[in-house]
Amino acid sequence: MIVFIFTVKTPSSATAAKAKTPQARKRPRERTTLDPQQARIVIVGAGQAGARAAEALRAARHRGPISLIGEEEHPPYERPQLSKAMLIDLEANPALIRQAQEWRDLDVALFTSSRVVAADAQRRVVALANGQELSFDRLLLATGTRVRRLPELDNGPLPVRYLRGIGDALALRRELRPGRRVALVGGGVVGLEVASAATGRGCRVTIIEKAQGLLPQIGSGSLGQYLRQLHSSKGAEIVCGAVVVRTTPCGLELGDGRSIPADIALVGVGVEPVTELAAQLGLESQRGIRVTSTGATTAEGIFAAGDVAEQWSRSHERWMRVENWANAQNQAIATAKSMAGVETAYDAPSWFWSDQYDANVQVVGHPAGGDEIVRGDVGAGRFTAISVRDDEIVGGTTVNAARDMAMLRRLVAARRPVRKSELENPAFELKRLLAA
Ligand SMILES: Cc1cc2nc3c(=O)[nH]c(=O)nc-3n(C[C@H](O)[C@H](O)[C@H](O)COP(=O)(O)OP(=O)(O)OC[C@H]3O[C@@H](n4cnc5c(N)ncnc54)[C@H](O)[C@@H]3O)c2cc1C
Repeated sequence: MIVFIFTVKTPSSATAAKAKTPQARKRPRERTTLDPQQARIVIVGAGQAGARAAEALRAARHRGPISLIGEEEHPPYERPQLSKAMLIDLEANPALIRQAQEWRDLDVALFTSSRVVAADAQRRVVALANGQELSFDRLLLATGTRVRRLPELDNGPLPVRYLRGIGDALALRRELRPGRRVALVGGGVVGLEVASAATGRGCRVTIIEKAQGLLPQIGSGSLGQYLRQLHSSKGAEIVCGAVVVRTTPCGLELGDGRSIPADIALVGVGVEPVTELAAQLGLESQRGIRVTSTGATTAEGIFAAGDVAEQWSRSHERWMRVENWANAQNQAIATAKSMAGVETAYDAPSWFWSDQYDANVQVVGHPAGGDEIVRGDVGAGRFTAISVRDDEIVGGTTVNAARDMAMLRRLVAARRPVRKSELENPAFELKRLLAA
């Protein structure tokens, strides 16, 4: 088999238009005599999920050809460090998941700078922007997310940046110079990590958040309180309950008429799933591509994993996309095994971490899903908040308490019955619940 790194230069709209129009609405069929181990597998999206799926397929002894297609110019890389080491350390290089040669060694055909513009479930082909078609027996959509933009800030007098890829991080790193005034629009993980890096680089930082507290998506009162205290203590201005309406030559204007002085703004207001191909394939994909616990979509032989996949969350009791590194990696690995013919369910509670200044924040499950019990000292920056619903731990957050988080992850997954009175007792050790 020929294995290669295939780089397609920026496509013209004329070549893109040549790609075949998919006829996606009919129910797609798989070849009936297909040996799963020999199937031709195409993975669209060479991010964390796509890359880990390709590796897992080979680990599961998949022998058929694997094509891993990504529109970015780089081989798959670790995104989390873009808002951490890459901004803090001027010398830091992007962390590739594998070097180009290692993809060749794995017998995976990696296409970079290659956008898939069409997918046809009947003919079982995908088409690249340059008109090339690739046939598949099994298809994995790992197309991830793109940043949510604020068009009202486009083309104004202030430089406005977003952070998703390596190029964004390198450009932002150059702009974080001592004394510069940086406005972070959005007090979520990306905004807060950039605030931390920018302060460390000597910038003056203002964080603007629409909700009443920081990291509102998590919904943990103690964590919100701690983060406000942390960022204020490092000199950041925090403006909550405010909406940015436009840029001015001197900064940003808020909905209530206030002005925020700034030399540059970084917008981090969430992401949106990349579902155009899923729509062409006729998959259910309004808020993400809906998948079973084995990663299967509604079309036979077509799977989805990572940020783009919408799955049932036991702790949240609803369908949702999980936008974090661990899910992208582990759901993709389980889905790859299913694609290779070994049905593997993935049902782990969502878990992520964030590093801000010297604080390591970790979140599992649904911290806002029950009553919050706080153990430790929020003011001292070392605590564990546990969310209990109907005598079950459904989520939690830790700050500088990684050992507690290791136990919480197991407890949320295990659904062991707990007594709130025990958790409220500071002398009670969490590990006793695991032993029970
Ligand atoms: C700055 C930043 C910091 C983060 N920090 C953390 C953290 O601390 N902890 C944590 O748990 N998570 C963190 N995350 C989230 C984590 O990185 C993501 O959840 C994870 O990368 C998702 O992986 P994915 O492969 O599902 O999607 P993505 O990483 O979005 O990858 C999808 C890939 O598919 C490509 N693609 C899409 N459509 C096409 C197409 N038609 N043709 C070809 N290619 C296509 C995209 O270009 C992209 O490269 C962070 C994310 C960012 C941006």
